[in-house]
Amino acid sequence: MNVFLKELEIRGFKSFADKTVLKFPKKMIVVVGPNGCGKSNIVDAFCFLLGEREASYLRQNSLVDLIFSGSKTKPALSLASVSFLLDNSSGFLPVEAAEVKIKRKIDRSGNSEIFINDKPILLKDLKGILAKIRANSRGLTIIRQGEADIFIKKSAVERKSLLEDFIGLKEFIFKKEQSEKQLKATEENLEKIKLTIGELEPRLRLLKRQVSRYEKKNEYENELSSLENAFFAFKLKKIQEEKEEKIDLEEIEKEINIRRTDLQSLVSEREKMEEKIFSSEEIKKVREEIDQLFKEKIQVEKKLSWLEAKFEGKSKSFPEAGILLKEIKPKLEKCLSLENIGEIKQEIKEIINLMENKPNIPDESEEREKKDFIENLEKINNKIDKFRQKEKEISRENNYLNQEFKNILSKIEKIREEINILENKKSRALFEREKKNIKIEELKEEIRQSGKSFDVVKNVDIPSDFNFQEAERKIIRLKNLLFGIGEIDQSLISEKQEVENRYNYLNNQFSDLEKASSNLKSIIANLTEKINSEFRQKLNFINKEFDNYFKILFKGGQAKLKLKQIDNKEGIEIDLSFPSKKKISLETLSGGEKTLVSLALLFGLVSISPPPFIVLDEVDAALDEKNALRFTQLLKSLSFKTQFIVITHNRSSMEMADVLYGITMGSDGVSK
Ligand code: ATP
Ligand code: MG
Repeated sequence: MNVFLKELEIRGFKSFADKTVLKFPKKMIVVVGPNGCGKSNIVDAFCFLLGEREASYLRQNSLVDLIFSGSKTKPALSLASVSFLLDNSSGFLPVEAAEVKIKRKIDRSGNSEIFINDKPILLKDLKGILAKIRANSRGLTIIRQGEADIFIKKSAVERKSLLEDFIGLKEFIFKKEQSEKQLKATEENLEKIKLTIGELEPRLRLLKRQVSRYEKKNEYENELSSLENAFFAFKLKKIQEEKEEKIDLEEIEKEINIRRTDLQSLVSEREKMEEKIFSSEEIKKVREEIDQLFKEKIQVEKKLSWLEAKFEGKSKSFPEAGILLKEIKPKLEKCLSLENIGEIKQEIKEIINLMENKPNIPDESEEREKKDFIENLEKINNKIDKFRQKEKEISRENNYLNQEFKNILSKIEKIREEINILENKKSRALFEREKKNIKIEELKEEIRQSGKSFDVVKNVDIPSDFNFQEAERKIIRLKNLLFGIGEIDQSLISEKQEVENRYNYLNNQFSDLEKASSNLKSIIANLTEKINSEFRQKLNFINKEFDNYFKILFKGGQAKLKLKQIDNKEGIEIDLSFPSKKKISLETLSGGEKTLVSLALLFGLVSISPPPFIVLDEVDAALDEKNALRFTQLLKSLSFKTQFIVITHNRSSMEMADVLYGITMGSDGVSK
């Protein structure tokens, strides 16, 4: 061990009010002085410097009481500080300096600070360095006054810890403890994360299920859409394929038109006939004509009779004249009653005959006039005959027309009937066609209500294995499924994303921590292995030396440290037997024997695993002169391995000292 103590500086600490520097240029330092001069205060100073936090361990009520409390002649101080200087030219300590100064101070407010080469550090950082130099206020490298038998007094488990500390395993134990702390924190974290993950899991599962249903929704919707497309396309096809009554509308239309044209001409023919038949004008005219002619005839006959009467008057002058008139008059009256022109003519001829045969001689003008009238009468009669003839003709013609008219009427009737039939046929055809259109319109509406496009549907290819009933069932099933899924809730999707992210993050953290945990576990396992194996290895060597020093100090006998399992922990048992071969229990040892056993072990430890320095405060107090000398000799022999700072009243120790310090305390209560 190339590190050693160069000097100790005490200021304001306990009785060392003034700055006091103890230089340690050699390995065997002996401190002497009268009782109460402050020798043990130097040991307290070491302990304080090594991070001791318990005031009672430093023989005070509080750490503040460590500060020089004043005396009759010297006032109390407000600050205490202790520092030592280590030679680190070997670079053993992880500080880049040839000298390492460790300093601790405390003020009246209880503020305590630690410095390494004047840089403040934390106590836990100091512990690492102290572990390396194995300096520990509670260890075996500083044995306080009256605690020479400390190793014996301690419990088995504490003994093991003291040994570990001494042989330099504390560094690893410290690391192990740190790792264990980290592991604990890691495990706690793991537990927390596990809990959080456990809390997230059911929610995430729920959200995932919902979102996967949403994803299914798309799938279902697509399936439904193509099914519906095929379904509607199939329906459309069926409607289009429906048997259409093979009626040629155009043909019907043509036939109807032909009949309409026929009808038209028949109707106009009928109208013409009607005109002919029902126009009575002609016959009326004829009859009027006849009437007129009769009137004229009467006039003419009247005139004629008047003329004849005139003739008769003339004949009265003749006897026969009256007789003639008597004969003519009934004949004329008869004429009047006659209708027949021939008869009338006959009568008239007889009358003329009578008159010609009578000696009646009318004058010539009268004769002519009469003649004119008769001619006129004849003309009228002729005219009447003609009109009668015409009248007859007309009524004959009317009869003929009536027959034709009937024919036309029945023809019209027939055509109308035919048109009616054709129209019916046409409207039935139109209705059929319309029915199809209505069906298509209904389908269009159905398609529209399904949110689909007819244009798309009509171009859909129906799968060859399409089954209408099956498709219908499937559509109902898909619609039910979609209804069950409901509307997509975007907030659920984003929540799922968030929860999933958090879940993944935590899982990553969990596995990181698990890695860290298993790392720590393996570090701990390695350290444990190292500590254990090194401990056992060293224990063997130590035992040899312990036994060796025991034999020297007790002039024989046997000493051994034994590992023992105590309540799941390893502890150290001290197995001793004296030269008398008798096994002895520790309790029965005398004070001096306890010290000797302890020193035998201490020497054994130093010879196997020498620390940089050891502070011993009157460990030889219980030894007799011979044993005190032996102790000093052994110490001296080991001082090439370890620096010893020895407080003693023992003369032999003083004699063997490389450096001897004498402490005094004057009436001012200050150690010098
Ligand atoms: P011994 O040989 O009997 O062991 P010693 O030299 O070890 O004696 P110490 O115990 O070191 O003596 O010193 C004790 C002295 O230190 C006492 O006189 C005590 O008053 C003094 N002392 C302790 N603390 C303080 C303090 N805070 N201020 C002043 N003096 C103190
Ligand atoms: Mg003392």
